[in-house]
Amino acid sequence: MGKTIIISNRLPVQLQISNGEITAIPSVGGLATGMKSVHSGGDSLWIGWSGLTDEEIPDELAPKIDKALKEHGSSKVNLTSSEVDGFYFGFSNRTIWPLFHYFLEYSEFELKNWDIYKKVNQKFADAILEAADDDDTIWVHDYQLMLVPQMVREKKPDISIGFFLHIPFPSFEIFRTLPWREKILEGLLGSDLIGFHTYDYERHFLSSVRRLLGLDVSFNDIYMDDRVIKVDSFPMGIDYKKFNEAAKENKKNQPENQSELQRRLNKHKDADKEAKFFLSIDRLDYTKGIAKRLYAFEYFLNKYPQYKEKVRLIILAVPSRSNVPQYQLLKREIDELVGRINGEFSTVSWTPIWYFYRSMPFENLIDLYTSCDIAWLTPIRDGMNLVAKEYIATRTDQTGVLILSEMAGSANEMNEAMLVNPNNFEQTADALKEAITMPKEEQRERNSILQKRLERYNVEKWANDFMDSLLDQKGKDFSHV
Ligand code: UDP
Repeated sequence: MGKTIIISNRLPVQLQISNGEITAIPSVGGLATGMKSVHSGGDSLWIGWSGLTDEEIPDELAPKIDKALKEHGSSKVNLTSSEVDGFYFGFSNRTIWPLFHYFLEYSEFELKNWDIYKKVNQKFADAILEAADDDDTIWVHDYQLMLVPQMVREKKPDISIGFFLHIPFPSFEIFRTLPWREKILEGLLGSDLIGFHTYDYERHFLSSVRRLLGLDVSFNDIYMDDRVIKVDSFPMGIDYKKFNEAAKENKKNQPENQSELQRRLNKHKDADKEAKFFLSIDRLDYTKGIAKRLYAFEYFLNKYPQYKEKVRLIILAVPSRSNVPQYQLLKREIDELVGRINGEFSTVSWTPIWYFYRSMPFENLIDLYTSCDIAWLTPIRDGMNLVAKEYIATRTDQTGVLILSEMAGSANEMNEAMLVNPNNFEQTADALKEAITMPKEEQRERNSILQKRLERYNVEKWANDFMDSLLDQKGKDFSHV
């Protein structure tokens, strides 16, 4: 058996250049963790963009960068800044991202960006082809690289290729609006296995394949030429142990070892045992429904005024794609809403919303998860939502209430959470009230079931299940098809 080649837009390492020296720091994100079992030892290679454009890399540093990446089993695809603009900020984030999250009105159909997307996908495919042997296994990740499977297949017809989409696949009625819809499907169908987070995304994809390409589909198999392509759902998990153990350590912290944030949160809780913290954590993205959540919070405070001065909403909005205009507008809207609601409801001793626009180090994230009684995560549309899973994993005494949007992929596996429609303020306000008053026993009952499931279906299992299924597909004989 050959090596495994993983391809994603970004490499799982961050490059830092200082004084002409390069340091490569491994990322700690979910994908990098999940792939650990797949990407280890000398028999695997990760191909992706380093995060630095060609213009940002001085010629004399290029070999040093390649060497630093090699030490982490990685190899970079070189992109110019105009390629990053057209491919990443353009087609990926202004066409595919909004469309696949049902924000049709935000989706731009620019021929120029499509051309750059094709060109850059070809660059990734070429990088694979240069490194791949026929018996290798290729795993392509996400919406930035949907044409890569077919581009590789053309040159290496027998190689094993898997593709996983980390965002939703929309219903046919949405997908059909894309001018290059057939090309995207054909690109994906270069794979042997195509994975989605949920059964619904899988169903939507199969329906588009059937209706747009007229291919035969039987259960979750697609018949194309002399090949059978398998489509399946693999809900991505988290590194459960890491979050659970960090929370246990966090609980043990003596006051002198606590972070400023943890101390402040504890101080407020000690001052008023009845007080409740609501927690909202997302990248600042229009799909996450942050503005809507703020309106719903205002609605809640007006509907149940008895909770004024008793509840506090902590919002962590992580900066994201801030050079895309919609994200700048959204930032302004949220800043204004927070200001208006705080201005309207604050008293001398109470500020209803604490708003952080930044990313937080892991330790502070754990402080927030463990200190907040209620996690309120209501995206308008979300491929999965790992924050919901992380919150539950940190609740070591099994208390805490998760209010989760039905529109998040994770809702499919988290039925024991309180599931709400983020557009329904009446239902959301009532859910908040129910969460505040939910008996501890009920919280524990719900969370113990959730924790067991999350522990079992962790991110490592997700990666292994996908790889097993891909290897299984490779071993099948389709000569009779
Ligand atoms: N996260 C982080 N720093 C922060 C806040 C969040 O690294 O300051 C992480 C969080 O732990 C989670 C991820 O960002 O693993 C967000 O994943 P999710 O699936 O919820 O949403 P995405 O941003 O991928 O759409």
